[in-house]
Amino acid sequence: MGARADYVTRPREWIASILSREQRFLSAAEIHRALKRAGARVSLSTVYRTLDRLHTKGDVTARADGEGEATYMLCEPAHHHHHAICGECGRVEDVDCAAMEQFAESMRALHGFELNGHSLEFFGLCRSCR
Ligand SMILES: [Zn+2]
Ligand SMILES: [Zn+2]
Ligand SMILES: [Zn+2]
Repeated sequence: MGARADYVTRPREWIASILSREQRFLSAAEIHRALKRAGARVSLSTVYRTLDRLHTKGDVTARADGEGEATYMLCEPAHHHHHAICGECGRVEDVDCAAMEQFAESMRALHGFELNGHSLEFFGLCRSCR
């Protein structure tokens, strides 16, 4: 995560450690609950602020859940990849994007459409829930 000593705050370390343990998308409220369970004294607004900062820095990725609430997960959005999300336990796998090369090629050939970006999520069951 490239933590710089002068910029590391405790809430940030706590939040990062919760996210790295869970490996799934969590809302600010869920993170706040987990922190309280672990005995950390931090306000919900601090959690929001810290998540926002981590997101801006590119240390966490965000997505809206089914109800439109923002949820967060530790990963490197700067490195282009996709997410395979388990419908059972919620665990998220980072998936490489190589297969999209061919798709982009056929979009160009069949539709004359030049892709300059895409976003994809995969849903199913992970290894341990299958
Ligand atoms: Zn990821
Ligand atoms: Zn699972
Ligand atoms: Zn891709």
